[in-house]
Amino acid sequence: MNIHEYQAKELLRKYGVPTLEGRMAESVDAAVDAAKEIGGDLWVVKAQIHAGGRGKAGGVKLARSLDEVKAHAEEILGKTLVTHQTGPEGKVVHKLFVEQGCDIETELYAGLTLDRAQGRLVVMASTEGGVEIEEVAEESPEKIFRETIDPAYGLKPYQARRIAFGMGLEGKVAGKVASFIVKLARAFVDTDAAMAEINPLVITKQGDVIALDAKMGFDSNALYRQAAIVEMRDLTEEDEKEVEAKKSNLSYITLEGNIGCLVNGAGLAMSTMDTIKYYGGAPANFLDVGGGANKDQVASAFKIILKDPNVKAILVNIFGGIMRCDTIAEGVVAAVEEVKLDVPLVVRLEGTNVELGREIIENSGLPIQTATSLADGAEKAVKAIEAS
Ligand code: ADP
Ligand code: MG
Repeated sequence: MNIHEYQAKELLRKYGVPTLEGRMAESVDAAVDAAKEIGGDLWVVKAQIHAGGRGKAGGVKLARSLDEVKAHAEEILGKTLVTHQTGPEGKVVHKLFVEQGCDIETELYAGLTLDRAQGRLVVMASTEGGVEIEEVAEESPEKIFRETIDPAYGLKPYQARRIAFGMGLEGKVAGKVASFIVKLARAFVDTDAAMAEINPLVITKQGDVIALDAKMGFDSNALYRQAAIVEMRDLTEEDEKEVEAKKSNLSYITLEGNIGCLVNGAGLAMSTMDTIKYYGGAPANFLDVGGGANKDQVASAFKIILKDPNVKAILVNIFGGIMRCDTIAEGVVAAVEEVKLDVPLVVRLEGTNVELGREIIENSGLPIQTATSLADGAEKAVKAIEAS
C-alpha cells in the first residue's frame, strides 16, 4: 500500500526526520490559503499522486508570489500527469501539496528496501540525488553506498556515518545526514514499510539537511497492525478493479494483455498465464478465486474481469479440488445473466463435480466454448481473439 508525499512527510516528521513546512490542498483557494499560512516568499506547488517523476511531467512548480501559487494550482489540479511511473494513461491530480521553497546546495538520495537475497533491510544512499536510483545503479554503481540492517540491532549509528563519509560529506553536515538516515530507518521498521525513497535528500545553502521528496510503501501483510497507516489509504489512487476484488477476498492483479483469466489457485493461475503466452496471447489479469470461493465470489470475480475494457476473451480454468466445479459454473452463469457478455468465453473444468459443472454450463444456453485441457483452453482463447 502506498501513501502520498505529504502523508509520508507527516509520518517521517514524527520520527524527527526534517522536512519543510507544507500543507495539503484540494482546491485552488485552499492552496493559496496554505501558502499564506506558510508565509515567506518562495513556495513549491506539488501534485500528489502515487507516482514519482512528477517534476519532469510538470507536476512540481516553484512560485515566487501568491499569484503564481494560484496559477500553478489552477494548472496542476485536475490535470492528468503522465510520468514514467504512471503508465501511458497517466494519473489525475486530486490533491496538491504546497510547501515552503528552499535554496538547494546539493541533492542526495536516501532509500530503504528489503534485500531479498540477504533477507534483510538495506539502506542505500547516493550522491546522485534527483536521478532515478535504477539509473545510477546501472551507470555509476560506485556512487551508491549500502548498509544492511541487522534485525536484532537496527541500523547502527556507525553504519549511517559510514554512508555519509562514503558520500564525501564532512563535519556537521555528515553528522546531520547520518542522523537523518538513522531516523528514516527507525520510521521504516516501526511502520512495516516495504519501500522508502527520499529523492532528493537535500543539503541547503544554510547547511540544513532536509527530505524534499518522500515516497513510502507498506507491506500489506502487516496492515492489520498498522491502523494509522491504513487511515492514510487513498483508494482513488488504486486500481478500481483491485480494490473491488479485495472486498470479495479475491487475489486480483491487472495486467496489460487482453485475455481475462479466472482460475483457482495461485500456481494454476501462473501456469495458465504461461500457457496463454505460449500460444501467443497475453493475460489481462491474474485472478485466483482461491480454494473455498462461493458462487457470489465467483460472480464478482467474473464481473471484475468484464469491467476491464481491454479484455477481448475470457478463459476460465478450474481444477476442482476443494473448489467444486458446479460452484464455479453457477457463479459464471449467474454473472453472465447479470452483466452482458460480449466477448468469447472459454471454460475448462476438471475435478470435483466436473460432470455437474459441465451440465450447468451446457444447460445455460450461453455461447461458451468448452476446453478439454489447459493447453486446449489457452489455444482456444487466443484463437477466439484472432477470429474476432
Ligand atoms: P518527483 O520526484 O516526483 O519529480 P520531487 O518532490 O522530487 O518530485 O520534486 C522534483 C524537484 O523539484 C526536486 O528534485 C527539487 O529540485 C525540486 N523541489 C521539490 N520540492 C522543493 C522545495 N520545497 N523547494 C525547492 N525545490 C523543490
Ligand atoms: Mg523525487
